Amino acid sequence: MALISINLQDGSVGKDQDLIIGIDLGTTNSLVAYMKDGQAVCVKGGDGKSTLVPSIVHFGPDNRIDVGDIAKEQLVKDPGNTIYSVKRLMGKSYKDIEEIQGYFGYKILDDDTESLVKVRVKDRYYTPVELSAHILRALKVRIEDVLKMPVSRAVITVPAYFNDNQRQATRDAGKLAGLDVLRIVNEPTAAALAYGIGLDPAQSELIAVYDLGGGTFDISILQIQEGVFEVLSTNGDTFLGGDDFDRAITTMILEQLGLTEEALVADKSFGQSVRLLSEETKKALSASAHFEGTVNGKKVTISRAAFEKKVQPLVQRTLDACKNALADAGRTADQIDKVVMVGGSTRVPLVKDSVSTFFGKPVYDNLNPDEVVALGAAIQADILAGNQKDLLLLDVTPLSLGIETVGGLMDTIIPRNSKVPNKAGRQYTTSVDGQKNLKIAVYQGERDLVEHNRKLGEFILRGIPPMPAGLPKIDIQFILNADGILTVRARELRSGVEQQIDIRPTYGINEEEMAQMLLDSISHAQEDMAVRGLLEARNEARNLLLAGDKFLEQNNAILSEEEKAATKDLLIALEEATKSTDKDVIHHAIEVLNTYTTPLAHRAMDVTIQAAMHGKDVSGETGA
Ligand code: ADP
Ligand code: MG
Repeated sequence: MALISINLQDGSVGKDQDLIIGIDLGTTNSLVAYMKDGQAVCVKGGDGKSTLVPSIVHFGPDNRIDVGDIAKEQLVKDPGNTIYSVKRLMGKSYKDIEEIQGYFGYKILDDDTESLVKVRVKDRYYTPVELSAHILRALKVRIEDVLKMPVSRAVITVPAYFNDNQRQATRDAGKLAGLDVLRIVNEPTAAALAYGIGLDPAQSELIAVYDLGGGTFDISILQIQEGVFEVLSTNGDTFLGGDDFDRAITTMILEQLGLTEEALVADKSFGQSVRLLSEETKKALSASAHFEGTVNGKKVTISRAAFEKKVQPLVQRTLDACKNALADAGRTADQIDKVVMVGGSTRVPLVKDSVSTFFGKPVYDNLNPDEVVALGAAIQADILAGNQKDLLLLDVTPLSLGIETVGGLMDTIIPRNSKVPNKAGRQYTTSVDGQKNLKIAVYQGERDLVEHNRKLGEFILRGIPPMPAGLPKIDIQFILNADGILTVRARELRSGVEQQIDIRPTYGINEEEMAQMLLDSISHAQEDMAVRGLLEARNEARNLLLAGDKFLEQNNAILSEEEKAATKDLLIALEEATKSTDKDVIHHAIEVLNTYTTPLAHRAMDVTIQAAMHGKDVSGETGA
């Protein structure tokens, strides 16, 4: 791909339309990458030192905003105005993060627990989307400085477990940063791509992506087939990562100095030096067996063996999560073809060795583990730009999408694990005569009752012309675009009235809940089926009761008094039966009613047809 530099003087905008950049918007660090001479590369900062941009935003005096290394320096000096880990807040409500609020050194608030969180800095309130946009803008500037041309199109990665709200928030952040986000890609998919896995459509593979970053751990099991990356399962720990390794070393250093944790709090600058030394020690121990450093003029020595002993339980926790992920995917460790290492913390030899032993095979680790996701994003971007012919890569929906139907039942329209993008629809009708408005409530999840699933949003289709129940034809379409963003469109086909929404966040969901939803659907399958059966029987009975009343009214002149009375009795019996929790009781009452009324209905029909042929009106109260 040829990059043509621009001449700003004559106002031309250059050929940036050819270039789509790849961005890893991480919890701890973010990176930007692009394809240079057919090779994905991450972009270094102006100082040429590092490809990592710490995902930290500092709000200084005079409206000064810094991102990255400069902001990181403010973490201890000016904690209230230094925002880190904003990724943890994306698409979340206050309720979602209430329990972990103590983790953040800055102020998170919301007046309404159901709505999305905001961060307070000085007198201003920032949404996680705005804060992420600052990081994305810094990445945009970084690559524009290197390429000497504007870029406006990007692919951004997100964890595989991110839900629609979190993905939408990420997209919005891109837009706010002046980026046209062409695709949101799952991080494990990007990591696999960086290693060229999945680029051969003929090859089918089962891979595990082990991602241990600064503060989070994710394990994803992916099935790759014909260019489709299917997430079979995800697992992990949202509070386990390199930061915990740092804390382990801090404890060791304090022990050697004969100090306690209080010393860190008492003297902030001492605390900061110990923390910096801890991370430095950890990184050094990834390459050598011993490390010697000084703090406050005193020498400390830490051996790799001692460090490993300390963090062994943490590593074990990641392996337990791997076990769970495999179980959820219904696979075993030896069925995994490839294991990809992602995240700076996988540089720790103990981590690498433990994972390799667990899966019983060497791991993919020759690329920079903190760069692989960004590199893969650049490759995905290149594919989207059409530079790698005949390749079409797709992710899939992690949970089913559907709407609520009568009785609170979930009607799935796009099943879980469907290919993305996707479009599916179904026709519905009204259950009440003359119904003018219809509420369409959209849910995500696997359970049969919507109350157990997650509500994504709702809207009302208004202006349906009054018609008897069952006559309106309401077509509902689910359009899931390539980023997993959902548009729901409802249209009454007879009148053409139409309404649609792009799913907007109502409230968030945390990762555990997401995984739990899948597990619940399995453990409650039996019970759910029973409930669904009962509700469906009740719905059928209710429709029949309405039809029965109408039948009596319309055929008043045709039916004998005896027939009318018998039908009424059976209708009352059916109404009584709907109160039962045994679906068979309801089905039985339905059957008895149907058996009795079917011949009557046939006769009524014949009479009506005859009458119609002779131009007579036999309906209703007018009588004979
Ligand atoms: P995230 O995905 O959460 O943004 P990264 O993948 O960038 O995070 O990982 C950051 C973590 O990796 C930090 O805890 C950092 O200390 C750790 N790390 C980086 N290099 C090394 C190394 N050589 N040895 C051990 N840990 C490392
Ligand atoms: Mg990461």
